[in-house]
Amino acid sequence: MKAAEAGDVHQNVFSEEQLFTPDVRGEDEDYPGDRRTVPPEWSSAIALAKSTAKAREVRPVGEEAPAASAAGRRRKRAADRAKKILVWLESKYEILPEVCAEFENWKEASSANADFDLFWSDSVPSSVRALVHCLDLSIASVKSSYHLKSDLLLSPLTARCKPHMPDVDPMKTIDTVEISDGEARGKLTRMWWTRQKLSNLQSQDANHDEAVPADRFMKLKTYQKMNHFVGMSSITRKNNLGRNLLRMRKQFPKEYRFFPDTWILPTDMSDFKQQFAAAKKQTFIIKPDNGCQGKGIFLIRDVEKVPVDFSSTFVAQRYISKPLLLDGYKFDLRLYVLVSGCDPLRIFLHRRGLVRLASEQYVEPTKNNLSEVMVHLTNYAINKSNPNFEENTNPDDAQDGHKRSWEAVQDHLREEGHDVDTLLAEIEDLIVKTLIAVQPSLSHFYHSCQPDDVYNGMSFEILGFDVMLDQKLQPWLLEVNHAPSFATESELDRLVKEEVLRDSFNLLDLNPEARRQKKREAREKMEQRAMGMAKKYCIEDRVTQEREFALFRTQWEDQQLRSAERARDMSSFDRRYKRLYPSPEKEKEYWQVHDAAINIWEMLMGGTFRRAVRLCDPVEKPAIEDRADSKARAGSAKTGNEKDEPPKPETKRTAEEIREVVERLAQGCSARPRRNASRRRSGKDEEKEESASTGAAAEEPPAEKPQPTEKRSHTNRYVDVQVGDVIKVQTNLGWETVTVRAKRPGTGKIDIQFKDGEYMRAVMPRILRNGEGQPVKEAASAEASQPLPAAPGRVGRLGVGSSAPTAPVPTSTTGAVPQKLAGYSRGSSDSSAVVTLSALRIFTPKAEAVLPTQEAGDEPASELPTVAAQESP
Ligand code: ADP
Repeated sequence: MKAAEAGDVHQNVFSEEQLFTPDVRGEDEDYPGDRRTVPPEWSSAIALAKSTAKAREVRPVGEEAPAASAAGRRRKRAADRAKKILVWLESKYEILPEVCAEFENWKEASSANADFDLFWSDSVPSSVRALVHCLDLSIASVKSSYHLKSDLLLSPLTARCKPHMPDVDPMKTIDTVEISDGEARGKLTRMWWTRQKLSNLQSQDANHDEAVPADRFMKLKTYQKMNHFVGMSSITRKNNLGRNLLRMRKQFPKEYRFFPDTWILPTDMSDFKQQFAAAKKQTFIIKPDNGCQGKGIFLIRDVEKVPVDFSSTFVAQRYISKPLLLDGYKFDLRLYVLVSGCDPLRIFLHRRGLVRLASEQYVEPTKNNLSEVMVHLTNYAINKSNPNFEENTNPDDAQDGHKRSWEAVQDHLREEGHDVDTLLAEIEDLIVKTLIAVQPSLSHFYHSCQPDDVYNGMSFEILGFDVMLDQKLQPWLLEVNHAPSFATESELDRLVKEEVLRDSFNLLDLNPEARRQKKREAREKMEQRAMGMAKKYCIEDRVTQEREFALFRTQWEDQQLRSAERARDMSSFDRRYKRLYPSPEKEKEYWQVHDAAINIWEMLMGGTFRRAVRLCDPVEKPAIEDRADSKARAGSAKTGNEKDEPPKPETKRTAEEIREVVERLAQGCSARPRRNASRRRSGKDEEKEESASTGAAAEEPPAEKPQPTEKRSHTNRYVDVQVGDVIKVQTNLGWETVTVRAKRPGTGKIDIQFKDGEYMRAVMPRILRNGEGQPVKEAASAEASQPLPAAPGRVGRLGVGSSAPTAPVPTSTTGAVPQKLAGYSRGSSDSSAVVTLSALRIFTPKAEAVLPTQEAGDEPASELPTVAAQESP
């Protein structure tokens, strides 16, 4: 590995380290927050403290408790909870509880420990700040209501000395009221301590907002959702974004030209300095890598101005000096992108967006105006302090104020004769490509933190994409924000942000029924694990299941988008969220880019990527030219640097090859297929070719034909077994006689039935063969050639081979365990015997029985009788 590459690996933006390192600051760092209310857990402490001042109601000895018993109250609470969606908001924005309140059955949770369904956090320190603020308010209110010297009441001294000096009652220091309730006193003391701890945390971390750490995500249950992805800092920190996109640009120079040339300093210092050697003076913009709101950004034209203090990392970018102007002002776009899943990626772009203008007329950079931030930077935080700054008063007016509606500006650009549709297509393209570049790492973190989740719905994120347009109407990606501002400082802000939040929540499919179902599944799984009966999925089964849910969820989301559209009587153009990904067409369009992202991830991690979940059938993988063709047709390929070379043919292993290796390893076989096996196969193929050329093949019965369109030729080993054959297969019980019931086209797997009636679908057992390698067959009984109904008790309970199986249908809107797989996760008391027997019948994996396991394209169980009938000799 070259030194540069080795450095790269050290700089690995996908490293686990990033999970716990601070992320980019929240966009509204200094925004004090508009939520002034005391959080419910503290208000209850205050209520308790106050209640102690009232005389206690004393119940005479022996008197019955009131009618509403504790158990009754608990039942009522549980029944109430069963109908509600609980949300826990760590947010400083008032708009969040407001939007949540619009949903009929949503309710704010009373504490962070509640069994909430949705967790929203703007960014950790800002919520800490909000909490500290709330605590101050609570303490102040207690102080004033009791006329306390609260410092004395709540000082660590009073808290600490109490156990050692039982005679000293710290509360005696209180002036007027004595709080005799120990619990209330304890709560107030804890409040003070919590405040101290939080403010310590705040000062330690004064400069950063933290990404939501992985451990927080790991603790979530499968029905809970949170508004961040672990590892999203791969694009939300400026240096990571630059590094990841540059890696992709190396492979796809034309496709990834949508962000300005970027250098990460000090790593890329020497290359960056060379840029100043050009005869024509160029301008560069330098940004602190975790900055926000334009803080710490400056422009340079001379090499001497390159920063030398590298206590923190900087990102240098080529300055886009000819931006598109609105009324003479430079502007950028804030677009809201909902990512509601990472495997497969689920990306939606909201049609609402904001256009943020600089507040001084634009002039191209010269050495004299480099420091004029209100000319060159479009940040609201910078420009709002300009006396010339005007707030928008009419969201439909594309020429009103320094913050405008993106829709109004689109209309304005159309009127000016610009091709806005192509621009929109290019923006969508850059959003998808940016997210695809980090999909492997998002998926890796997601599955590592939540290995049991197959719904791909525990994380979502509303990302703020900052895009700038140049004079040729070319979009440039500047930055991706993980915590875009939801402050509502104008009517336009409120309109846009409310809609973004409301429409995002609508697409999350939060409903009590789904929660119940997932809780039930988790309970059953746990029970099975406790009994040692948990079924182990192979990766293919798992991916098939995930794919079914993905398809189902896509359908549901499309329905949701359409019904929202109907409810608001909107044309399809006006749909608020537009799906950018996934769809079978989009998957094919971005297949090659996605594969390259997987390769890069594997190279950096030195590992193997789990099989990506895709909506379209894996065999539909498009050829490389297809993508080029489709791009040419779409006309969205970027013009520009004509000297760009076409993507180099990949010399590394493709993702497909790597997946095959994993499959082989998962089966306990060596990573490489046996050489003699391939020779044997090729020998057989030659024989067949020979016989075909001599016309012998025409006389062969159709069943002897090689499997058509087989992806892996080692499945040919099973062609010599026919439906109805009685053969011996090896299980842990020894060689057992089975009848072949069906053959599965494409994979070469077979369905078999044991003598005791047990039925096994889609398996590739080791078959007893004679000296010539032919299967040892026994005489078939008369009914052996017909598919038998499976032994009803066992197989029915197993759920994997019932005599009249049905196609898998997810049963809830979020997707439930399909029937095909239901038997694996559900157990009943008397199914244990079956499971145990099946578990004993583990086929011995041997090199010669290399088993590619179930493909997404396998025949569904419903076609079992047909398959068997067709292939019966
Ligand atoms: P921050 O996170 O601090 O807002 P950004 O990367 O969004 O940092 O940059 C702040 C502003 O600087 C942008 O809104 C844009 O106006 C300007 N800017 C950033 N990068 C470039 C660039 N490469 N060319 C021209 N202007 C830029």
